[in-house]
Amino acid sequence: MDKKAIDWSNLGFGYIQTDQRFVAQYKNGAWKEGGLTEDATVRISECAGVLQYAQTCFEGLKAFTTKKGNVVLFRPDLNGERMEESARRLEMPVFPKEKFVEAVRQVAEANQAYVPPYGSGASLYIRPYMFGSDAVIGVKPSEEYEFRVFATPVGPYFKGGAKPISLRVCDYDRAAPHGTGHVKAGLNYAMSLYAIMDAHKQGYDENLYLDAATRTKVEETGGANFLFVTEDGRLVTPKSPTILPSITRRSLLYVAREYLGMEVEEREVLLEEVESFAECGLCGTAAVISPVGKITDHGKEILFRSGMEKMGPVLQKLYDTLEGIRLEEIPAPEGWICKVC
Ligand SMILES: *Cc1c(COP(=O)(O)O)cnc(C)c1O
Repeated sequence: MDKKAIDWSNLGFGYIQTDQRFVAQYKNGAWKEGGLTEDATVRISECAGVLQYAQTCFEGLKAFTTKKGNVVLFRPDLNGERMEESARRLEMPVFPKEKFVEAVRQVAEANQAYVPPYGSGASLYIRPYMFGSDAVIGVKPSEEYEFRVFATPVGPYFKGGAKPISLRVCDYDRAAPHGTGHVKAGLNYAMSLYAIMDAHKQGYDENLYLDAATRTKVEETGGANFLFVTEDGRLVTPKSPTILPSITRRSLLYVAREYLGMEVEEREVLLEEVESFAECGLCGTAAVISPVGKITDHGKEILFRSGMEKMGPVLQKLYDTLEGIRLEEIPAPEGWICKVC
């Protein structure tokens, strides 16, 4: 299989059109079979539910080439399950997780010429998504939907090593109690754009969102969950019904416990205890772990011992272990690696 002529090490995180994508339509109460197409455009009513009332959800995962030369996906069944949850919460028809995994597999295989080689740090980012496609003007769920999956090659998240980032405690909220913070809905992102642009203007990389009800507990950033390491080496991560259940976080907790023998705590994390932690990081599919060096809370600076030069040693160990599992350098737990080809 000939790879495309792409300079893998200089790829950024932008959309590059690839050859094939998957499309399935929902009409008259049922999903049609669906399949691959070369057509990269979407054609829908000007009054489509997604355009008027934002009825849409998505997923994000990656395919990469492992040390063994396989093209693999990492735990795509969990993305399929999460998309089922998102669909239910948004009154959309569930696209069954088995079919989801098969569609993702097909898209990765059909675009294998775009899967970066082992060792490049780059990957093929895969974006499944679903939206209400028929005309809706009175507020109600759409009756017709499209489920789609496209793929685009992306570069290493951090070029030249992971530099710690700086966060600010945000005065805007991301998710209301009993709202939609726990599902992967575009609407959670639309309303976060103002806050992130504002953070950038003030010189911060990301926002740390607090729980909206009491504004005392750490939730997550706009698109990644938190990890903290205590002075005595325990891994702590916030537990809340309004944060998005990151697959990377769930995998890292397992790796910490089962591979590294660490103590793991999933619990409420108060903002006031954050200064007692030794290391801080963000986790998600995009970067696996991004180290956090500094958090600013309205003029008060919290500086982590790991500093602004590199990732702390415990998070680095976690990162290396998960990365090793994903790239088939270290034996994976049963069912974590899904071979495409
Ligand atoms: C997707 C997402 C994450 C990360 O989840 P992963 O499954 O690890 O990629 C975290 N927070 C939010 C708000 C997200 O949308």
